[in-house]
Amino acid sequence: MDKTVLYIDMDAYFASVEQASRPHLKGKPIAVAGSGKRTVIVASSYEAKRFGIRTGMTKGEALAILPSLVIVEGRNSKYVDTCARVHEILLRYTPDVVIHSIDEFYMDITRCLDLFPSPVAVAREIKKEIARRFSITCSVGVGTTRLIAKMAGESGKPDGLVAVKKKDVPGFLEDLPVEDIPGIGRKMKLALNVLGITTCGGLSRYPVSVLRRRFGIWGDYLSLISRGLEPFPAGGGGAPRSIGHSMTYEKNIGDKAMITARILELAEMVAARLRREKMTAKGICLIWRYPDFTTCAKRVTIRFFTQDGRVIYDAAAGLMDSVRLKDAVRLLGVTVYNLRPVSPAAPLIDGFDRAQRLWGAMDRINDTFGEYTIHRATILMCAKHHWVISPAFKPHKSYPYRKE
Ligand SMILES: [Mg+2]
Repeated sequence: MDKTVLYIDMDAYFASVEQASRPHLKGKPIAVAGSGKRTVIVASSYEAKRFGIRTGMTKGEALAILPSLVIVEGRNSKYVDTCARVHEILLRYTPDVVIHSIDEFYMDITRCLDLFPSPVAVAREIKKEIARRFSITCSVGVGTTRLIAKMAGESGKPDGLVAVKKKDVPGFLEDLPVEDIPGIGRKMKLALNVLGITTCGGLSRYPVSVLRRRFGIWGDYLSLISRGLEPFPAGGGGAPRSIGHSMTYEKNIGDKAMITARILELAEMVAARLRREKMTAKGICLIWRYPDFTTCAKRVTIRFFTQDGRVIYDAAAGLMDSVRLKDAVRLLGVTVYNLRPVSPAAPLIDGFDRAQRLWGAMDRINDTFGEYTIHRATILMCAKHHWVISPAFKPHKSYPYRKE
């Protein structure tokens, strides 16, 4: 039996959740952002997108384009809660559900197809149930691989349902622009265009050896997807390649002690995410942005893999120490890369067990009672800052949510 995958993606997720729970916002151009004056838009409704409001714009930029835009403060718990409930609905069909991000899911329905008339029937039922329960729409793609399902789903947004049968894959891909392949950004698109490649069809006929020479391991990836093949090993593809947090601050920060405290705060957030993903990291990157929007980054590889916020902080703070800041900063970010699953030998390392128990307890308290319930004392000097989770945030299974 051919593998059958569903890709389910909520339409304008955060904005739709807000419109569903506050009826006076329905049909209006709205954008979701954090509470600070300078935080950026993380989501916007279709009514707002029509005017050119995009994720990543500052509130000021967005309001300059559309003064009637309603900016709503994001409510993380509501989005995580709805995500968990959608997850529960999907699990009724099959245990093979992967949460890809807070508003995207993959379902491998191969094993349960005998129970339903067709994959499209499953997709229709799911769309109906999500609309009934949450008053939001989603787009669903059906395909033989995750990527085909994703590209099919994306092509039908919003509120779409697009199924691509195995025999129709070459036809579906033939005229699809290369930039519609997940992971291909502006730079990669340009590089491909230079080679005369503009569509997936063109890409599939290009010799893989040339692609490999030009793009390294990406060459193989591109060639496989353009031919409709699964580029990830079974079950893989969901593991993150890097984990990071960044914050734009209400006021520029020039004070060294405050910068250090903010770095510690970010390092702890990153470490908590690493632990949720059961990953460790060896590469640490510090990002800072000046008031004139110049953005700088410095990275370092530490000697061993870690998921300890203190170790990540030491490395990031060391990076900050090594530069002379030419001005105050408006944004700070800490990202870890070079990730590896927690080693089975980790408990044998001296002190690991004790540290593990401490983090475990801290994570559980914060998960249950909210971010910052317990944290290192240094972070106390940071003013409370309401942040909205990034749409790429992946809630973990034990994330608490209200039971109905
Ligand atoms: Mg979405």
